[in-house]
Amino acid sequence: MNSRLTLAIVRWSLATVALAGIVLVYKRWLHVNPTTVALSLLLLVLVVAAYWGLRYAIILSIAAAACYNFFFLPPFDTFTIADTQNWLALLSFIATSIVASRLSQRAREEADEAKARQAELDILFRLSRELLQSESAGALQSSLATKVLGITSAEAGYLYLLEGNRLYQAGNSSISERELSHFEQVATTLTTTQAEGERLLIPIRSGARPRGLLALSLPHISTSTADAMGGLVSLALDRAQALETVARGEAAKESDRLRTLMVDSITHELRTPLTSIKGAATTLLSANLPREDSLELLRIIDEETDRLNHLISEAVDMSQLDAQQVKMHLQPRSVSHLVEDAIETTAWIRREHPVEVDIPDSIAVRVDATFFEKALCNLLENAAKYSQPGRPITISAERRNQEVFISVADQGTGIDPSEQSLIFERFYRSPHRLGAASGSGMGLAISRAIIQAHDGQISLTSQPGRGSVFTLLLPEA
Ligand code: ADP
Repeated sequence: MNSRLTLAIVRWSLATVALAGIVLVYKRWLHVNPTTVALSLLLLVLVVAAYWGLRYAIILSIAAAACYNFFFLPPFDTFTIADTQNWLALLSFIATSIVASRLSQRAREEADEAKARQAELDILFRLSRELLQSESAGALQSSLATKVLGITSAEAGYLYLLEGNRLYQAGNSSISERELSHFEQVATTLTTTQAEGERLLIPIRSGARPRGLLALSLPHISTSTADAMGGLVSLALDRAQALETVARGEAAKESDRLRTLMVDSITHELRTPLTSIKGAATTLLSANLPREDSLELLRIIDEETDRLNHLISEAVDMSQLDAQQVKMHLQPRSVSHLVEDAIETTAWIRREHPVEVDIPDSIAVRVDATFFEKALCNLLENAAKYSQPGRPITISAERRNQEVFISVADQGTGIDPSEQSLIFERFYRSPHRLGAASGSGMGLAISRAIIQAHDGQISLTSQPGRGSVFTLLLPEA
């Protein structure tokens, strides 16, 4: 209030000084005809109307007309006007200045309105951009009130949703039980934005169906913009819900596809060892074989049951990792110990390949030892399976910038560049080597899932005919 009064006093003083200045200049120093004086005064009135508004312009034009009459229309220095022509001149001056002031005031109002509209459009644009960023309905609902508050500069904001009778609030004011039940009541009936004290109540409707309301305290927006905001919010909620439904559907479809794929692959892979076991067992039962042959058949049964066991535990691991049911117990472990354990578990490899280890004792990683060993064993078994007996397998580790790189290198068949990204996909097996080595195509997919669960990465460099190097990257313990 005080600042408005000061502003008015300053403006009136400036207008008075300008008017007095014009009168003084023309009366004392520049002797021009009355038309020039009238035009100069008119210019002053127009400038005042354009910048300060109609109220100032009208009062100033009356004062300017009085000065014009007093100082410049004969007889001078009186308010009397002798000549009818001068009456006309004075009246024209007053009429012109008032009409021109009115016009410039209207132009000013229109410019202000255009600015306000642009600011409101900007609010709507920013809101729609913010709303489109959320793809989950839950996240959108909980952040919406804060987003709207930030964009509209309101003092407090509430998003009330009829579904589940939920209230989300932003800003520092709290809400009473009575107000909440008032929101509930208003949300079902409100169709357009309504002002309630200092608050704007904005309906959120999906077509004719009410879904809630947005209550904003002292927002700097018009009711039509508020209506548009309600529409945007409702659309954004619909969109996020639709996206979630689609994502759920896609995930369910993908999980069904994988399950079918897994069942197909497992059934196929189980058949080979089962056929061998069945054949060996039938022969053992039906014929009285020499001891050596019987032992050979029992050895086949032993190996094939191991293979069956391996396949089934891979399938179980895969489905548990897929369903994210696995809880990793991370502990700092020495890499050389982990590698020793993996070599122990895959003892058969050492019978066929020289295994070289080059790992400094001090390197440690934070891992779940059981799962990490599975990932490492898969790599060791592949290195052995896909290289000629007698070819060496080298396991090395090094530390760089708080990261540990563990590599398993073989001098085997290598992997064609076109297949290098595919082999990490579940059930992918190279068509060129299908007959050569047994497997399910799950090993590398399991290893990758395990390493990713440790915040690590698995990568490959390979040259067909020369060998492959699989590298595990893990954070240092
Ligand atoms: P599996 O060994 O049971 O087929 P994996 O997921 O472990 O399944 O491997 C997928 C495919 O990647 C294998 O079928 C093979 O073609 C290729 N592969 C994996 N490791 C190697 C390796 N060390 N050398 C050559 N090829 C490999």
